[in-house]
Amino acid sequence: MLPRKPNNELILYLVLPCYNEEETLPYSAEILLRKLSCLIHEEGLISEKSRILFVDDGSKDRTWETITQLSNASPHQISGIHLAHNRGHQNALLAGLMYAKDRCDVTISMDADLQQDIHAIEQFLQAYQNGCEIVYGVRNSRSTDSFFKRATAGAYYSMLKWLGCSAARNAADYRLMSAVSLQALSEYSEVNLYLRGLIPMIGFQSGVVHFDVSKREHGTSKYTLSKMLKLAMDGITSFSVRPIRLVLGLGALIFTISMIMIILFIIDYFCGNTVPGWATLSCSIWFLGGVQLLSLGIIGEYVGRNYEETKKRPRYFIADTVGDEETR
Ligand code: UDP
Ligand code: MG
Repeated sequence: MLPRKPNNELILYLVLPCYNEEETLPYSAEILLRKLSCLIHEEGLISEKSRILFVDDGSKDRTWETITQLSNASPHQISGIHLAHNRGHQNALLAGLMYAKDRCDVTISMDADLQQDIHAIEQFLQAYQNGCEIVYGVRNSRSTDSFFKRATAGAYYSMLKWLGCSAARNAADYRLMSAVSLQALSEYSEVNLYLRGLIPMIGFQSGVVHFDVSKREHGTSKYTLSKMLKLAMDGITSFSVRPIRLVLGLGALIFTISMIMIILFIIDYFCGNTVPGWATLSCSIWFLGGVQLLSLGIIGEYVGRNYEETKKRPRYFIADTVGDEETR
């Protein structure tokens, strides 16, 4: 186990990516400030240098102004960073974690709408003190999700497991990471980020904390269907080349079947059976066309991602910061 500081010197950063969250932030900040003060003064679990870090993911509303106001009102508890563009939840989260890495001993990441139960924080810290460098938050049930989200999430995690990605089922981006594990994470340079799959690859001792999810109180979900699909695709293509192998397997199978068919046709021809053959012909054209397009699509997905990765474009830019005090 790596050495641990005494509780009153342990600096915790709560990292919250925010995209168009002006309605939620004042409420979330109030709840978190109370929690932070309780953790510092009443429970004595963390140092008073601990902070809340809001990452504005290039919002289009007044999120950044709100963060600035909140930080000015509590300069020793709230900091903010402002990304130059909307880069998506995973990149915003990474930006926050990388910013916090050199300023604190542990981070806990969570959503800005505080749907995840903040009372699990004590358990996260306990697991850290027991030697875990990474502690995953796993949700108890998905009862607050829509039927569609529950069904697709279940199927998706089963598929990821089958593809060989070790992301924990129902693991959210509610997670504790120590400065040591963040340093390791910073060495990965992929552009198509899927942190839930990437972080288990880092290794280190890890633990799990179970938590409840409540409904969003203010504002609406910022995860649109297209953002969710992008995340799902990143998850699949970042961790497995199995889909491409499947395409190869499918091709081999169809080739074998077609060889058998050709032999059958030749036998038919010599036996003098003239088959009308229209149905067979049109079916095979449709079938082969479909399989080819599908296979091309899968391969194209990988080629496209390869293209993005080889360009090694920066993942985000920090345009502005607020409440940036040296804490370490
Ligand atoms: N989010 C973000 N960038 C985006 C979309 C979402 O930083 O492009 C943040 C959002 O502000 C929130 C978190 O990701 O803190 C989770 O989003 P949300 O609660 O809307 O998703 P849901 O809970 O509906 O899955
Ligand atoms: Mg939410």
